[in-house]
Amino acid sequence: MPCPKVSLAPTCEVDLDADGKHHGYIRIQFSSDRSAYGWLPVPIMSIKNGDGPCAMIIGANHGDEYEGVSITNELYQTLETSDISGQIIFLPAANAPAFYAGRRTSPLDHGGEANLNRLFPGDQYGSPTEMIAWFITNHLIGRAHAIFDLHSAGKSIDHWPSVKIRLMGDAVKDAVQMEFLRLFGAPLGIVGDRVHETTLSGEVLPKDIIYLSTELGGAGKIRPWIRDFGFNGMKRCLRRMGILPEGLDLPDPEHDVRLMNMQAGENYIFAYKDGMFEPRVNLGDEVEDGQFAGLIWSLKEPWAPPEKLHFNRGGVVFCKRTPALCEIGDTLFFTLNDYDG
Ligand SMILES: [Zn+2]
Repeated sequence: MPCPKVSLAPTCEVDLDADGKHHGYIRIQFSSDRSAYGWLPVPIMSIKNGDGPCAMIIGANHGDEYEGVSITNELYQTLETSDISGQIIFLPAANAPAFYAGRRTSPLDHGGEANLNRLFPGDQYGSPTEMIAWFITNHLIGRAHAIFDLHSAGKSIDHWPSVKIRLMGDAVKDAVQMEFLRLFGAPLGIVGDRVHETTLSGEVLPKDIIYLSTELGGAGKIRPWIRDFGFNGMKRCLRRMGILPEGLDLPDPEHDVRLMNMQAGENYIFAYKDGMFEPRVNLGDEVEDGQFAGLIWSLKEPWAPPEKLHFNRGGVVFCKRTPALCEIGDTLFFTLNDYDG
């Protein structure tokens, strides 16, 4: 393993230009009360076999999203250099401090709520999460022909599984993205052109790199049926890129993807009071405009009538809050509507 130069900026133990199978850490310098000259470990792995297409697979961009971690780990551990052409870079726990803490956000900076996916492009001498974003922006994104950002919903939310693409305005690349979206095998495929600044997708889209993100369930757990189609789907995409051999036998996509628009403001139901949230519909249900969605019960006045919730705009129930206790401002549900491209 190469020994990185001493630096206050992030450094990488893995030589990403080297052929073969390698793993180690991105070292995030963190001079703390507990460890004056210490660094935080962000795992990174690479399998490279000559020149060719490069895919980067990212898990735990938010630290409590576990499906992508499982998929990334198993791919790295089961693939050998001779199995691939080109390169796969694996970043299984992008917000590693948050992942180690079992949290969406890192407890180390930004008031204990550092959300990596709101801190791009980052800062090489900034806080730990800003340094991770800077390393991804400046040392990883430019290597990849396609980036697969494997999110799920995390502890506080659950999603009906989906893959999302952002249209690039390039007919050839958009056709490839659409093909990946079908190959992944999720029930829903979300198509849009909206990105938010300070997110990874916002950083990638102007660079003209193919980018897929997923929502592979959530609720702070891993469900086998979702993880398994995600694992197969990731391999189908790598085969389509030419990284895995064309003749590799893989199952057909597990679901015929249903194309959906990105959600609009009217698709949401927010909590407007604190209390106990009781959903009355399930993820994946089809609901009508105005349909009864659930209740919020008062915690301290059980004799008080509950707040009744209704969908403003129907569609497929895509997002549902997981914990029963809620506060004003929490997202409780949102729906998605069929793609009208
Ligand atoms: Zn996420």
